[in-house]
Amino acid sequence: MFSSRSRRLTEIGTPLPPTGTEVIMRRAVVLGASVAGLLAARVLSDHADEVVIIERDETDGTLPRPGVPQGTQVHAVLKGGELQLVRWFPGFLDDAAALGMVLPAPDTPVSVTINGVKMPATAMRPTVLATRPFLESLIRTRTLAVDNIRLVTGRAVGLEFDGDRVSGARYVPHNGADAVTERADFVVDAMGRSSRLADWLADSGWPRPELVRMPIKLNYATCLFEQDDQVSEAVMALAQCETDGLRRGAVVNRVEGNRWIMMVSGYDQDRPGRTVEELAAFCRQNFPPVFADIAERARPVGEVVTYRQADSRRREFHAVERFPAGLAAAGDTVASFNPVYGQGMTSATLHASCLSSYLRSGPDLDRPAKEYFDLVRVVVDAAWQTSTFADLELPHVDGPYPRGYHLTKRMSGLLFKASMSDRTIREQLSHVRGLLAHPDSLSRPGMLLRVLWRSLVTATR
Ligand SMILES: Cc1cc2nc3c(=O)[nH]c(=O)nc-3n(C[C@H](O)[C@H](O)[C@H](O)COP(=O)(O)OP(=O)(O)OC[C@H]3O[C@@H](n4cnc5c(N)ncnc54)[C@H](O)[C@@H]3O)c2cc1C
Repeated sequence: MFSSRSRRLTEIGTPLPPTGTEVIMRRAVVLGASVAGLLAARVLSDHADEVVIIERDETDGTLPRPGVPQGTQVHAVLKGGELQLVRWFPGFLDDAAALGMVLPAPDTPVSVTINGVKMPATAMRPTVLATRPFLESLIRTRTLAVDNIRLVTGRAVGLEFDGDRVSGARYVPHNGADAVTERADFVVDAMGRSSRLADWLADSGWPRPELVRMPIKLNYATCLFEQDDQVSEAVMALAQCETDGLRRGAVVNRVEGNRWIMMVSGYDQDRPGRTVEELAAFCRQNFPPVFADIAERARPVGEVVTYRQADSRRREFHAVERFPAGLAAAGDTVASFNPVYGQGMTSATLHASCLSSYLRSGPDLDRPAKEYFDLVRVVVDAAWQTSTFADLELPHVDGPYPRGYHLTKRMSGLLFKASMSDRTIREQLSHVRGLLAHPDSLSRPGMLLRVLWRSLVTATR
């Protein structure tokens, strides 16, 4: 079971172009045109005569917008997501670079500091540095350039059913006209964390997928600064510190438009501040000088924007007893994690890959898409395991605890220490953090032996 989860995640994360794509439906409808919806539409365009995306925000994707309130905050794409972006949009990184995206060279110094200790470099650093709206606008442009995809602006308000299958989606057009129905052979919900899909299902007599929550009470504060080489040459720096039970984090990335985006975070009642001065003081107190130097000396672009996320959550679609045919869900609708681990958009790209595998497997579209949700579960489990495991150590978090938590906690402590001096362990750990490998891969016998041996060597020195 364990090794098969590992193998399946590797298959889902393949960078190879899909083969054997066949048109198997007339029309597919996607609800929501953010990262998950756009990627799902791109996949569906291989299998449907026509794909219609319904999005409530009128936007070209270049500015923060109401439907994606987190768009003002720092966003990073993990390696697993970067590979999928290139898989679905060949040449994505070159196009992005031509439009101003910062793509640091592989040898660019990246500073990672944990509790004041500088971490050894890994080969797995992210290469995509951008603001969230800029990244989304690149994905949007490439998606909407596909011939058989069109976008309508309107608020999705419900599903239409025909017996045991979904037959369309209802939406209220942006111009305020009466609700209309978009007929569909297949509907993908990508309306994000606040999706009302579970309510719609329950209202129509279907079971509601269970919602699992872990209360994290995360506080973010983010500000953009004009990049200035006189102040710092930093391209990317990350820091985390834990003192007196408080876990605090900071990130600064160089992004398009010759700017830096800086984020600082705390948990529960620990709020990093609402002004540039408060942000600078927080950085000076907790992190290496690069953060406070930029906050104090570089020119801010706009205000500090704060964001609070109450919980990590997942909806157990794979476990519902009855589910209509012709319906899937992707992205944050299915699971949304503590954003400090940067897993959300990468998960959304991997859900798109799951959708492609499902649609290429010759599915019976008149049966529930169980095989799709089983694949998505592999992605969700991998991301959930990594992020919630670390969050269980926060003093205000009290579960849910996974089976074998205490033993796994001891082993991960050893693993983390061993990774400081062992490059193989370090790289496998960063593959897991980058959603390229399943956390189960860290408990393979060879890896466990390596960790134990490394711990023994260190202890006897
Ligand atoms: C503070 C913060 C920081 C984050 N940082 C990172 C990061 O560094 N890296 C990372 O990978 N992820 C990060 N994330 C997570 C990331 O933002 C999400 O995982 C990602 O946006 C998932 O996209 P989505 O398409 O599923 O949903 P969303 O981006 O939430 O989009 C939902 C879409 O549905 C539309 N919509 C909603 N309701 C309707 C309706 N009724 N009708 C029509 N359209 C509708 C919305 O307008 C929107 O376009 C962060 C999240 C937060 C909160």
